Amino acid sequence: MDAKTCIQKLQYVGVLAFATVDSDGAPQVRNISAIHYEPDAIYFFTARGKDFCRELLADGRVQVLGYTKYKEMIRLSARAVPAPEDEQRRWMDVIFAEQPYLANVYPGDTREIGVIFEIRSGEIEYFNLGVRPILRGSYAFGAGEPRAKGYEITGDCIGCGTCAAHCPQGCIEPGAPYAIRQEHCLHCGNCYEKCPVSAIRRREG
Ligand code: SF4
Ligand code: SF4
Repeated sequence: MDAKTCIQKLQYVGVLAFATVDSDGAPQVRNISAIHYEPDAIYFFTARGKDFCRELLADGRVQVLGYTKYKEMIRLSARAVPAPEDEQRRWMDVIFAEQPYLANVYPGDTREIGVIFEIRSGEIEYFNLGVRPILRGSYAFGAGEPRAKGYEITGDCIGCGTCAAHCPQGCIEPGAPYAIRQEHCLHCGNCYEKCPVSAIRRREG
C-alpha cells in the first residue's frame, strides 16, 4: 500500500465525506463527489457562498474519508487551498466533464460561482478491517508527514506476556521488551490497560 494507491481507491469510492471545522470549532461533514483525481493530488469543486467554502478559506484543514466495499477505511488529512487563479477554469472544466450531473446543478454560466480547491500534500491513513490480522499504514504525499499513533512498549517491560494474551489481533511479539507489530494494531488500548507495570505508552504524533 502507498499514498497513490490510497488516492486511487478513494477515486473508486467516488463519493467522499469531507470534514472541516467551523468558526465555533465544531466539526462539519458533508459528502462530495465533484472531485478530480491526479496520482498525487485531488481537486474539488464547491460554491463560494457555501459554509464549506468559507470554512476552507478560513481554516483550510480538512479530513476526507472513504470506505470501500472491502472494508478498507482511507482517511486523508490535509490543508485545502484554492487552486491557482490561472488553473481554476482548467480544473473546473475537467470536473464538469467527469461529473455530468454537475451541469444540471450549475447549468450554463452559473458554474462561475464555483471555486476549485486543491489538496497537494498531506497524510493518508489506510485501515483494512476485512483481513486478519487487520492491516494499517500511514503514508505522506507531497510535503505531508505521517504522525505516529497508537501504542508502543517501553524498556520498562518485564516480559510477563499479559499484553500479548489480551491483544485481540495477536500482534504483540515476545522479546525484551515485547513489541507491537504496528501494521496490525487496532489502537484499541487493551494492552495499555492490562500491563501491570505501565510499560506501554501512547505514541505521540
Ligand atoms: S504486559 Fe507490560 S510488562 Fe508484560 S509483556 Fe506486556 S508490556 Fe511487558
Ligand atoms: S492496542 Fe490493541 S491491537 Fe494494538 S497491540 Fe494493544 S491490544 Fe493489540
